[in-house]
Amino acid sequence: MMKEYPMRVELEEAVQIIKEKVTVMNTERVALSEARGRILARQIVAQENVPPFDRSPYDGFAFRAEDLAQASKEHPVTLRIIEEVPAGKAPEHSVGRGEAIKILTGAPIPKGADAVERYEVTEFNEKEVTFFEPIKSGSNICLAGEDVRQGEILMETGIKLDNARLGLLAALGYSEISCYRRIRCVMISTGSELVPVDHPLAPGKIRNSSAYMIQAALREWGMECDIYGIVSDNSNHIAGAIDVCSQNYDVIFTTGGVSVGDYDFLNQSLEELDAEILLWKVKMKPGMAFVAAMHKQKLVLGLSGNPSAAAATLYLIGGAVLSYMSGKQELPWEKIKVRMSHDFPKSSKGRRFIPGKLCVINGEAYLDSSAVQGNGILSSWHSCNLIGEIPGGTPPLKAGNVIEAYYFV
Ligand code: AMP
Ligand code: MG
Repeated sequence: MMKEYPMRVELEEAVQIIKEKVTVMNTERVALSEARGRILARQIVAQENVPPFDRSPYDGFAFRAEDLAQASKEHPVTLRIIEEVPAGKAPEHSVGRGEAIKILTGAPIPKGADAVERYEVTEFNEKEVTFFEPIKSGSNICLAGEDVRQGEILMETGIKLDNARLGLLAALGYSEISCYRRIRCVMISTGSELVPVDHPLAPGKIRNSSAYMIQAALREWGMECDIYGIVSDNSNHIAGAIDVCSQNYDVIFTTGGVSVGDYDFLNQSLEELDAEILLWKVKMKPGMAFVAAMHKQKLVLGLSGNPSAAAATLYLIGGAVLSYMSGKQELPWEKIKVRMSHDFPKSSKGRRFIPGKLCVINGEAYLDSSAVQGNGILSSWHSCNLIGEIPGGTPPLKAGNVIEAYYFV
């Protein structure tokens, strides 16, 4: 007996239905040098100032600004050099009236000094330094905490660790950091017409191309993804593959067999497994054929065999759901308004998505899309970072028309 589940849902509903069933990944400690692109699993409050002490941004001299109050070309002021402080050393003396300490870039400002002047504008020998103009108190001093202030909330849970954030964590003394575990995905390709990429093509066969596109996209988004391989159009075999994968993976992607044709076995195999089907079919083009299910607490996302349809649901449904599971606070896209680069000659009865690339012409954002679009056309997705949306009931569009688009950040 077929169980009841929502059918022909909106994209947003599909994402919501799935998000209610899945959970955010557990956390693990990750070495800082391995943490680029990982999602931070805790808030970071700075326990120290960065830099930890007032320091000199130049090679020069530290002294009391008031000593130079009367300095000029005609009446230079000469101070006695009492110490030299290279970076990494703490000053031994404090600076008194009429005294200067030679200081190098990155060295701590000595007590008593309230200004630094660069070598270049002075004259000096081993013992003395001469100045030709006054300087304001506080000049050329980098203050402790000017980069990160002790006590400030530096990073929030759910942000992606990028280059500078890793540098800041290192400055604060973290050698490892708590991150959400990477989602382990697997890609099962169903279809009796498929052959592995390194096999010759017999009549009627095509290569398993979608698996590599999906694996690459998931890895780019920070997930792990293995390719399980090809399973023929047989509900038993498909069920067996999904069941095996449910032991080792968090999310199981499949392609193919998710429509209503005689050889579309995916839903049947999910029913054989007694998996909980969450929804079937989404009101979008490409990408109508799509099924989501839970099997043994693992998420199964059944994408269309058509490469473009698979890409559309992967980006717009998979992208949102995986982003949530990975612990990210934000969606993987921002919605922006863009102009079309090409005419779109068909009218759109239902909601339609057009893949492309963001480009800027004369300061305006454009969706640079291929003229050729279709369910089976993967080429239109190359370099994709922007997906335009054409609402249902829209007549053909002209180049230059403004549409909403999902910009993948
Ligand atoms: P299906 O979703 O099984 O009805 O397949 C729709 C179309 O996508 C058919 O033309 C299939 O041959 C093709 N197709 C299915 N799986 C793949 C795949 N892994 N790579 C490329 N094309 C595929
Ligand atoms: Mg098929």
